[in-house]
Formats: sequence, structure tokens, C-alpha cells
Amino acid sequence: MSSSLGSRVLVVEDDPRIAMLLVDYLRHEGLQAHSLADGQLALNEIRHAVPDLLILDLGLPGLDGVSLCREVRQFSDVPILMLTARVDELDRLLGLNSGADDYVCKPFSPREVMARVQALLRRAQGRLAARPLPWEVDEAGLRIAWRGQWLALTPLEFRMLRQMLNHPGRVYSRQQLLDSAHPDQREVSDRAIDTHVKNIRRKLQAVHPADDCISSVYGVGYRFEAPAP
Ligand code: CA
Repeated sequence: MSSSLGSRVLVVEDDPRIAMLLVDYLRHEGLQAHSLADGQLALNEIRHAVPDLLILDLGLPGLDGVSLCREVRQFSDVPILMLTARVDELDRLLGLNSGADDYVCKPFSPREVMARVQALLRRAQGRLAARPLPWEVDEAGLRIAWRGQWLALTPLEFRMLRQMLNHPGRVYSRQQLLDSAHPDQREVSDRAIDTHVKNIRRKLQAVHPADDCISSVYGVGYRFEAPAP
């Protein structure tokens, strides 16, 4: 989460209570946030300085959320989270191709909005850092190449590493890794999972010693981060 620290978020919402609630939560997350209540004013500001993320209410004075979203898409691919008034509005919205990245229906839980915000920021950062991945998964051959070298993985290690490679940055509990590695068998201890992770780490670092890509998250499990090229 810390990588998004200080990201600038603009909330465009004409209901002052909701705007204030979101701004409070965003600041609590370590983000820079402020709000505007008018769509046209927001567009003027965004043209001047594009934030790192936009949260747009659908119904706005000045310029509605969908129009604002489309205008912004003319010049920026900033992540946009749209707030909608009703669940049944979502279908219509999706049909409008507004260009929003994600939608949350009111009434929402601020925690859920924060989780979506963090996910969008991470995705955007990943896009910025887009580069060829240093690995290749051969599903049929149950093999993974790391920096061009096939790793000597056991089938279990293959399944665990593949799981982590699917979502760099995500934290996996030992149970989740276990489930991915042993779909039918649950009698493996946490200690055994730790040993498998240690072996995977060792095999990655045997190829490239600087690749300390799997970190343990205290009390939770493990996280894989894509290494620098
Ligand atoms: Ca509104």
C-alpha cells in the first residue's frame, strides 16, 4: 500500500457529506485528497493538473459524471472510479462506455471504496512501469522460466509460484498457497509451506542473487513483488 502514499486524488461529488467522508478516508490512507462539487469546475482543474486518481459522482451540476469522464478520457488515462446511485444504473452505465475503470454503488462502505482506490492506483503504477516480465510460465510443461532459465521446481513449488506470479503485490495466506498447491490435500503444515517458499526463493536467487522477490508478511503469509529488470 505504501507505494501509493501521497498520490493525489480528486473527488467530484456534490453531496458535501459524502465528499467530506471520502476525503477524510483518503487522507487517512496517506493520500492527498480534495473535493469539488461541480463537474465543469472539475474538468477545468483536471485540464490544468491531472490527479493520480479521480472519484466521480454520476449526478453532478455543471457536467454529469459520464460526460466528465468522457472529456477526461480525451486527454488522460488517469484511473477513474465512478460512484453510482443505484445498482440497476450500473448496466446502463457500462453500456455508455464512459471510460471509467471501476464503479461503486451508493450507499457504499468507505472501506470498500478505499480498497478499490488502492487497487486502481497499484494497477496504474504497474502500467507506468510496464516492462517485459522476467518470467514465463509454461502451463502445459509445468515449468517456469526465470530470466530465461528454466527453474527446477517440484510440481508443488510450480503451483505455488505460479499462483504468486499471477498477482504480483498481492498477499497470500499460507492457506491460500496451500490450496493452490494441494487442491485435494489439507494436511500440510504451515511449516511445510514456509519450507517450500524458502526453496522457491533459493531457486530464484540461484538464477539472479538480487531477486529477493518473496517477502513474508508477518502473521499473514507471503507476498511476491516483480523484481527490477
Ligand atoms: Ca450527486
